[in-house]
Amino acid sequence: MKISMVSEHASPLAALGGVDAGGQNVHVAELSLALSRRGHDVTVYTRRDDPFLPDRVRTGSRLEVVHVTAGPARGVPKDGLLPYMGALAEGIFADWGNRPPDIVHGHFWMSGLAALDAAGRSRAAGRPVEVVQTFHALGTVKQRHQGTDDTSPADRILLEAMVARSARRVVATCSDEVFELKSMGVAGNRVSIAPCGVDLELFTPTGPVESRGRSHRIVSVGRLVPRKGMDLVIRALRELKDAGHDDVELVIVGGPGSSTGLEGDPEAQRLKSLARTLGVEDRVELRGQVQRGEMPALLRSADAVVCAPWYEPFGIVPLEAMGCGVPVVAAAVGGLVDTVVDGRTGLHVPPRDPAAIAGAVAEILADPEWAAGLGRNGYRRVRARYSWSRIAADTEKAYQSALRSGSAVSADSDSPGAARHLESTGGRAL
Ligand code: UDP
Repeated sequence: MKISMVSEHASPLAALGGVDAGGQNVHVAELSLALSRRGHDVTVYTRRDDPFLPDRVRTGSRLEVVHVTAGPARGVPKDGLLPYMGALAEGIFADWGNRPPDIVHGHFWMSGLAALDAAGRSRAAGRPVEVVQTFHALGTVKQRHQGTDDTSPADRILLEAMVARSARRVVATCSDEVFELKSMGVAGNRVSIAPCGVDLELFTPTGPVESRGRSHRIVSVGRLVPRKGMDLVIRALRELKDAGHDDVELVIVGGPGSSTGLEGDPEAQRLKSLARTLGVEDRVELRGQVQRGEMPALLRSADAVVCAPWYEPFGIVPLEAMGCGVPVVAAAVGGLVDTVVDGRTGLHVPPRDPAAIAGAVAEILADPEWAAGLGRNGYRRVRARYSWSRIAADTEKAYQSALRSGSAVSADSDSPGAARHLESTGGRAL
């Protein structure tokens, strides 16, 4: 198959840990690679955010990344990218020329708009392309949790629902998302589940282990944004101290790559000042951005990896911890409900509950043998279910379903398919 991935803000080539660079970048990079290894020709289209980026970067014999000029050639926060999706679609359509792909797969709702738009142009030129969509995050969920702090464009929820209904098929990453999609009017028979995966060659139980500063260590990894709940883990550390677990350190990973960068980062400063107020600043390290290659050694050094988001569309970090054989303490939200099995690969805690996090970490620290068993089970689970080759095979099935229902619709000229919905808007998503 010839496949176009559209990932407007999340380039597979970007450094991770910044405000807008995390799981989606990893997902697009690894899924594209795994699909190309299955013999598909994959092109990833992403927005040019630097004038010096080459137009095309070939990263494998069947895999390349194309930087499309759409809006200013500099970093723009993802919530400001909507006005440039028409230009992105135009660039993608132009790059297809006379040889469009079989499938265009949008990642995140704005990429979905660009994918539908490019597919609409191609269809109008007599060359149909099927659109598959993965949202990675949903505006309804974000709005529910962030309320007035949500900086998404005003029309996000409306447009997102339009993308969900117009794409030939939606690929959800977890069961929780399927319920959300249902409440957006997306019929279950148009949804496939293909979770995120983990690089099982990189994230392994054996290999270098970073040395610790204290006898116990917990690690939290994520973009430094409030909803990742790093403050809750700092509060849990204080509770652990009060409960007599005095020799525990917390390493928080993510955010800017340098110490000066961290000094200028408001969330990093908020976390630092919280640690100071709670009297645990001597045991909290804000590490900033960690390169991918260094992540396994860091994760292996932890007694437990704590993931305490308010909500989580999927969450790749627990899989990475499990790959390294480390127990995970996870808020029971979103994708973490599927990935972490309570009492088998880690412990679930209610969201936004520092006392519960502290309790779970204390249980793990108190019984190293049981904790090692959790780690081993986690490793088995990710090997059995979350390799990128398996995820690519699941995604391929979703593509095949999209192609099948696409040809069924074109054979039935009266069918009110997604294509017609878009055509009624002049073949344009925007
Ligand atoms: N990550 C990284 N370095 C950092 C911070 C994060 O490599 O300094 C990686 C992390 O290992 C994971 C991804 O970024 O692969 C974050 O993905 P996740 O799904 O957990 O969260 P998201 O950022 O998508 O909300």
